Formats: sequence, C-alpha cells, structure tokens
Amino acid sequence: MEIALIAHDGKKAEMVQFLNEHRDILHQKKINLVSTGTTGEKVKKAGFEVHALLSGPMGGDAQIAARVAQGQCDMVLFFRDPLDRHPHEPDILMLMRLCDVHNIPLATNPATAELLIKAV
Ligand code: PGA
Repeated sequence: MEIALIAHDGKKAEMVQFLNEHRDILHQKKINLVSTGTTGEKVKKAGFEVHALLSGPMGGDAQIAARVAQGQCDMVLFFRDPLDRHPHEPDILMLMRLCDVHNIPLATNPATAELLIKAV
C-alpha cells in the first residue's frame, strides 16, 4: 500500500508528529511512503523511509496527482494550511479533484488522517 504525504510549511511539524504517533501501524502494514520534496526531507529526518518527489511548488503535488490517476497511490494525507497562500494552488486543486475522480481517500487535516490511518 502506498500513502502520499504532503504538508504545507505551517503543518510540517504536525505531519512529523502524526507519523511518529503512528510509526507502528506504518511499519506493521509495510506502507510505502511517498511525499513532496520538503515534506519528505522532514519525514526522513524523523527516521522514516520515504520516496520524496519534487517540492510542491515545483510540481510535487502534480506528481502525486499523477500517481493517483495511474492507480499507484492508495491514500493521500495532505495537511493543508488554510491560512497561507500557495503559488501552486491549481496543482493542489488538481490533486484533490483526481482523488475524487479515482475515489482515493484524502485527508486534508490531522483529525481526518487519524481516522483514515486507523482504518488501514
Ligand atoms: P513541500 O510541498 O513538501 O515541498 O513543501 C508541499 C506543498 O506545498 O504542496
């Protein structure tokens, strides 16, 4: 199973905390993690194996959207910062749209991610 991780700058610490809290599940279920670039760096520093793609503004969200469209990605955990502006908003909307098109579970905040990860 592949889970994609994306966290906006204001949410990266929460993403790392979330992963630390669910380290056991991720390990036991042999989850493959992919992420956008900078999120991936933080996640790696926390001791997780993750395939980091491009940074979000450089196309990382679009790369994850492509994985969703191609059936490679089974879940997206996207900790969005609704209080900040993002130059790659079109890519973000594309990713969320493709999750809906392909019926892929998408959490846009830690509370929803918590429910999804418990269902894995
Ligand atoms: P980043 O991208 O992990 O490279 O910061 C996340 C985003 O802003 O979409």
